[in-house]
Amino acid sequence: MKKELNEINILIDLLAKLPGLGPVSSRRVVLHLLKTGNRSRLNDIATAMIRASENVQTCVDCGNYCSAHKCSICLSPQRSSSEICIVQDVSDLWAVERAGAYQGRYHILGGVLSMLDHIGPDELRIPELLKRVRRDATQEVILALGATVDGQTTAHYIAEQLTGQNVRVTTLGQGVPMGGELEILDGGTITAAMRSRREY
Ligand SMILES: [Zn+2]
Repeated sequence: MKKELNEINILIDLLAKLPGLGPVSSRRVVLHLLKTGNRSRLNDIATAMIRASENVQTCVDCGNYCSAHKCSICLSPQRSSSEICIVQDVSDLWAVERAGAYQGRYHILGGVLSMLDHIGPDELRIPELLKRVRRDATQEVILALGATVDGQTTAHYIAEQLTGQNVRVTTLGQGVPMGGELEILDGGTITAAMRSRREY
């Protein structure tokens, strides 16, 4: 390996580890950014990455990404604090927000229970959820975890933990396909599923 290519190879190797990019796409991206006319974009990306790394935090209540202690959804007086929609990841929150059919708050678990991957309740933000429901006297918890086996196992576990508490537990209704993850669904499907939610 030529010494002058070290910088390029380090960049290619780092990008190749990202989801959706392998070595071929990574090389293509790096060569594109190194072209003379594209150097300012390379600088912009580097600056944006540093700013994101330094400033993006996790909301103490819901687990959403934000640039402060709490996210804009948790701070908004327009959002109902009596409903909490439980989602697997931030990408699912974004999907529900894009659909625009929900005016409550969220709780991001950071994954789902998985025997195979040794992910138990304490690896997820489930203890925080249970504390939050008690603290805020939440009236409805909406389980929006997708119809995968692990998603449904997680929904069942959370519903069990909430049994006996004065909270209504619901799940998304029609239109969520088997094995479907929320983030790949279109807004209309999410809206229909949210509106037709039913008792768990
Ligand atoms: Zn939040």
